[in-house]
Amino acid sequence: MAEASKPPSKLSGKVSIITGGASGIGEATARLFANHGSIVVIADIQDELGQQVANSIGSNRCTYVHCDVSDEQQVISVVNFTVETYGQLDIMFSNAGIISNSEQTVLDLDLAQFDALFHVNARGSAACVKHAARAMVEKHVKGCIVCTASVAASKGASSRTDYVMAKHAVLGLVRSASKQLGVYGIRVNSVSPSAVATSLSKRSSEEMKKTMKLYERLSSLKGVELSAEHVAEAVLFLASDGSSFITGHDLVVDGGLMKLPDADD
Ligand code: NAD
Repeated sequence: MAEASKPPSKLSGKVSIITGGASGIGEATARLFANHGSIVVIADIQDELGQQVANSIGSNRCTYVHCDVSDEQQVISVVNFTVETYGQLDIMFSNAGIISNSEQTVLDLDLAQFDALFHVNARGSAACVKHAARAMVEKHVKGCIVCTASVAASKGASSRTDYVMAKHAVLGLVRSASKQLGVYGIRVNSVSPSAVATSLSKRSSEEMKKTMKLYERLSSLKGVELSAEHVAEAVLFLASDGSSFITGHDLVVDGGLMKLPDADD
């Protein structure tokens, strides 16, 4: 086969779990990982959509498993399923996340909503990192873990305090886990997208839509809209050997937004 026609294979022989893989950034990453030779297990709560994505990728390369990341037992089950079915786990992309609909500031923070969001975005990420790392250590796999944070984790925001706090927690998880797991050869990094048009951002409020417009205006890369596929390429880099000496890093995917002094929302 001619060199130019070879399929891309940055993850050849790898086995990955992608949480939140039924749509948006997770779906784009599932497709990209599978194209690069990885077996992909999509873990999500949208069963019909997740199954459709897995079918379209192909049953020889992708499986859908129901998993609510806020339930530790379900996270253990999907990790066990993966190791029992495919022999080991090489990559965990902990990406599942939700956003609150209301635009509360800290003055009127709804703590019940805060708990619900933290359960998925922060506690869910911790459960995924914990059980992926355990499976990797047990099988002596020098694996990769990537979590989805957000530019909100570095900049704060004028509302959505619960979301911003949970994404700060994800960065804390990545920084700590990278220090603790390096001894096993396991790398832990995060991606922080700015605003991507996915079902999460489309479902959110007018305020969020204004933020998305602002990010677009302040991006250094004019005329380019951040897509789920752009983020997936950053995740692929962090999950592949091209980043073999990178750990504890937050890779911001924002078109240069953060470099602008007035980039706060
Ligand atoms: P999305 O809504 O398209 O995808 C999120 C996926 O997570 C969905 O498939 C959903 O079913 C799944 N999910 C939700 N709760 C779950 C749970 N408890 N257990 C398992 N799966 C669950 O949105 P997206 O934009 O692709 O979001 C992916 C990640 O990117 C999230 O962590 C989000 O916070 C983050 N993010 C998104 C943006 C953006 O602008 N879209 C920006 C920064 C960060």
